[in-house]
Amino acid sequence: MKLNLNIQPLNTWINKEGKQPLLIAGPCSAETEDQLVATAHLLAKTGKVSALRAGIWKPRTRPGEFEGIGSIGLEWLKRAKAETGLPTAVEVATAKHVEEALAAGVDILWVGARSTANPFTVQEIADALKGVDVPVMVKNPVNPDLSLWVGALERINNAGITKLAAIHRGFSSYEKSAFRNEPMWDVAISLKTLVPELPIINDPSHITGNRDLIGYISQKAIDLDMQGLMIESHIDPTVAWTDAKQQVTPAALSDIIDNLALRKAEVKNTEVKDKLAELRAQIDKIDDLIIQKVAERMTIAEQIGKYKKDNNITILQVNRWEEILKKTTDYGKALKLSPEFTEKLLELVHTESIRRQGLILNEGIEQPKESLTHA
Ligand code: PEP
Ligand code: MN
Repeated sequence: MKLNLNIQPLNTWINKEGKQPLLIAGPCSAETEDQLVATAHLLAKTGKVSALRAGIWKPRTRPGEFEGIGSIGLEWLKRAKAETGLPTAVEVATAKHVEEALAAGVDILWVGARSTANPFTVQEIADALKGVDVPVMVKNPVNPDLSLWVGALERINNAGITKLAAIHRGFSSYEKSAFRNEPMWDVAISLKTLVPELPIINDPSHITGNRDLIGYISQKAIDLDMQGLMIESHIDPTVAWTDAKQQVTPAALSDIIDNLALRKAEVKNTEVKDKLAELRAQIDKIDDLIIQKVAERMTIAEQIGKYKKDNNITILQVNRWEEILKKTTDYGKALKLSPEFTEKLLELVHTESIRRQGLILNEGIEQPKESLTHA
C-alpha cells in the first residue's frame, strides 16, 4: 500500500547546500543564554550543521523536573541564529507553543514522541499550523504503532504543511536493552515503504540514551538510507540539565560525523551500477522462489487441514511443531542463519498455515462477524 502525502523534497527547506549527512544538532534543552549561544557558535564552526535544535518546553516524565526554560529561550534562539546564521528548530506540543515559536521566527517545528502518541494534541498543533508555511518534523510515537505515526503526519499534512519529515527516535520497551529506546528499524522502514517520498531523520541520541553508542546508530541509519541525523550537542554535556548521558560536545559530534562511512543510494558509476543490477536480479529471482515455495507449502498445509477434518484431528499438534522448529533451526544454523531468525520466519509461515487449516476445518460453520474497533 502507498499513502498519498503532499511533500516537498527536503533540500527545498533545509541543507540546500547538500551536506552529507544532513545534521540537525543542539542541546536537549535551552538552559541559559550563554549555554545556548556558545553551543551554537561551536556547532556552526564545525561547518557540518544545517539547523540548531533546542528544547524550550520539555515534556518530563515526572513533575518537579526541569520543564524547559520557556518563552525566554526563544529570544536566545533568535540571538543564536542572528550570530551564527543557523536556522532554528523547536519542539511544540500545544497551539500556544506553535504561535510563540512562529512569532519568534523559529524556522522548523517538531512534534515530540509523547505528542505524536496523542491524536488530540496532534490535531491541536495541526489546527494552529493552518495557513502557515513552516517545515514540521514528526517524531515517532513512544509506542511502536506505525498508524499513530502515519496519522500524525497526515494530520499535519492535511493542515497544509508540505515541508514535512519524520524523525525516528526509537520506541519505549519494557525489555531492558543497551538502548534507551529500541530502534525497531522495521517500523521506520515500513513508513518509508508506505510513503517513499517522506524524508526520515534518525535521532540516535534518544535511541541510545548513551553518547558512546551514537556513532554506531548513526552509521546504521545511514546504511538504511535515512535522510539525516538529529543529534543532541551541549557545550558541557556532563552538567546538562536534561539528557546529560546522551549529549556530546560539538567537537565530539564533529568526530562522530567524520567517522561515518557515507553511502549513496543513487549510484552514478556505471560499472558499480551493473554489478548492483546483477546482484539485485539474483535477489529478485530468489524472492520469487521463496514466495513460490511458501505458496506451495500453504497448498499442502490445506490438504493436511482437509485430512485432519475428515479424521477429526486437532489443527495444532505441539510435538510436530517443536520437531519442525528444532529440525529447521538446526539446518539454518548449519547454513549460518541465526536460530532467532529462522524461528521468526518459520513462525510466520506456520501461523498462516494454521489460519488456513482453521478456515478449512470450519468450512460451513457460520463465523462471528468482526466486531467494530476504535482504530
Ligand atoms: C527531545 O528531542 O529532546 C525530546 C524530548 O525527544 P522525544 O520527543 O523523542 O522524547
Ligand atoms: Mn532530549
